[in-house]
Amino acid sequence: MSETPLPVIPMLDLARQYATVGDAISRAVADVCAGGRFILGREVTELERAVEAETTTPAAVGCASGTDALWLAMAACGIGPGDAVLTTPFSFFATVSSILRAGARPVLADIDPASYNLCPAATADALAANPDVRAVMPVHLYGQCADWDALAPLAQRHDLLLIEDAAQAFGATWRGVPAGALGHAAAFSFYPTKNLSAWGDAGLSTFRDPAHGERARALRAHGMRQRYFHDEVGWNSRLDTVQAAVLLVKLKYVQQWNEDRARVAALYTSLLTEAGLVGTVADGGIVLPTADPRGTHVWHQYVIRTPRRDDLRAHLASQNIGSEVYYPVPLHLQAALQHLGYREGDFPESERAAREVLALPIYPELRPDEQERVVAAIVAFLNG
Ligand SMILES: *Cc1c(COP(=O)(O)O)cnc(C)c1O
Repeated sequence: MSETPLPVIPMLDLARQYATVGDAISRAVADVCAGGRFILGREVTELERAVEAETTTPAAVGCASGTDALWLAMAACGIGPGDAVLTTPFSFFATVSSILRAGARPVLADIDPASYNLCPAATADALAANPDVRAVMPVHLYGQCADWDALAPLAQRHDLLLIEDAAQAFGATWRGVPAGALGHAAAFSFYPTKNLSAWGDAGLSTFRDPAHGERARALRAHGMRQRYFHDEVGWNSRLDTVQAAVLLVKLKYVQQWNEDRARVAALYTSLLTEAGLVGTVADGGIVLPTADPRGTHVWHQYVIRTPRRDDLRAHLASQNIGSEVYYPVPLHLQAALQHLGYREGDFPESERAAREVLALPIYPELRPDEQERVVAAIVAFLNG
């Protein structure tokens, strides 16, 4: 006797989003194709104006990826060789590689275990030990802003630039200020898995100082302000018009989608709490994600922690339920970054998080019955 296989609950299902906005986007893309302006066309400018309005910033500059947007943010603010930039080891690789790409030296500080974001006290210690730091680059991990109440005065005291890695946080706020407008510059990624996503690679930087925005506009196109006259060496990191057209359509929905994500997160929290699974890592229970009341979390990811993470992940997979580990190796332990000189034990909270975190499926279209199945599978595993 063969059982019917359980339906798959994937980690992310972009087909469901396509079913709602696909036609409108296809028409917008067809317009771009008919017009033939594939690079930096009208839609790129429209997107930049629309993002300036959304983020309340004076300058938004589209580019080829979130990684490039980080580089562009730093380069346009004048960060380069001889400078150090402080950030977190608990992030995607691009957070640190973009600092190297800008020619600067990455300095790391550990995270706060509740928010997974840069710990202000650890940041203060690292600043005292590294006087060449010129900028701090907090990451708004999983869609929640880093503690700006603590980081902003710290940066001001040391006369540092603040560059936001807002790749996971389009629409998030801190005390009502949108991500993108908190620092001197910020970077967004529109990689397909992000909460605002393109149909391919795309990114965007925002700036507090319009002059930095102008410089970024030149840097993304070979340092060119006037055609074929190069003031400085930039790079080719232009934003495709097709991607801008996709993003312009999705921009109208992103606030609703972020609210839907928050509803999904709230249901996970109540189901896991009702199931009696919430505890501490020490007692083998599950630790739920926290949302700082000073900000709005956009729930790019819903991340629990448990000491039996890998076994739980395998159990979910056996039930056709997707999950993911963001991120299994903290950046200071990555093979490519050994030259930074850090060792295992240097950032214990990041190392512990890398062993314990597990992201559950979350997207605006995820249904309550699917969430119930995810939680039932976690219950079965923990009680089994
Ligand atoms: C996705 C991501 C990036 C890089 O963005 P890409 O568009 O993939 O280049 C950088 N930082 C963080 C935190 C990210 O999640």
